[in-house]
Amino acid sequence: MGRASSRAETKPMKNPINRLSLFAGLAAALLLAAGCQCPKSACCSKPASVAAIGAVAAPINKAAQAAITPQQALAELKAGNARFVAGHPLTRNLPADVKATASGQYPFAVVLSCIDSRQPIEIVLDQGIGDIFSARVAGNVLNDDVLGSMEFACKVSGAKLIAVIGHSNCGAIKGAVDDVQLGNLTGLLAKVKPAIDAVPADVQPRNSKNHEFVDKVAEANVRLVMQQIRERSPILREMLDKGQVGLVGGMYDLSTGEVHFFDK
Ligand SMILES: [Zn+2]
Repeated sequence: MGRASSRAETKPMKNPINRLSLFAGLAAALLLAAGCQCPKSACCSKPASVAAIGAVAAPINKAAQAAITPQQALAELKAGNARFVAGHPLTRNLPADVKATASGQYPFAVVLSCIDSRQPIEIVLDQGIGDIFSARVAGNVLNDDVLGSMEFACKVSGAKLIAVIGHSNCGAIKGAVDDVQLGNLTGLLAKVKPAIDAVPADVQPRNSKNHEFVDKVAEANVRLVMQQIRERSPILREMLDKGQVGLVGGMYDLSTGEVHFFDK
């Protein structure tokens, strides 16, 4: 550990979220595992805890969460998805990560995604215990509870990025475009309806058999939710305007495992 700590102090990282090249991350992980309580020492203050050395990753810690920017948070989500797609996710010691995060959590992002079983968001973004807040609801629609959860994640817990990630071939979107009526699902699908109108009228036919239409509605739905987050939460809007948090949308491709993040 001494060697790792020394290298962490002499080689500060330009990108605190670069997991595979962070020596300080191992130091932080080892110190966490050892119960290090030195809040002002160099070892714990390095912005490095989402790091891995060799093949082992560690959960993000307080210093790393404070240091990461919204842009770096997005870069890490992209990098994590790239690792997943390549079949090279980080190796984690989950029992150790449970212990390391038991006394506190410092996630760097909050992600809203669909409940679809083929899109387990932590897995497809290669994030571990304590790394991201995850809100999942059919069609990744927004409601007051999800919005409140995002406010907690960002304003209270310090997350730096809000990501809304829809996916291809989404059953909830199909249900909405086919006007499915089913118990409480009816009200949920109603939240998707405005996204249908956002897709140009020349995209035909406008039903679930048209995969292009379904995916266009899903993407419009993500953009709508992003807009609603800003409009309906003065707390998040202020944080966004000040650059304290970022907001990004994206679409997960069920056939490739790739998340395509929107440019804007
Ligand atoms: Zn879905």
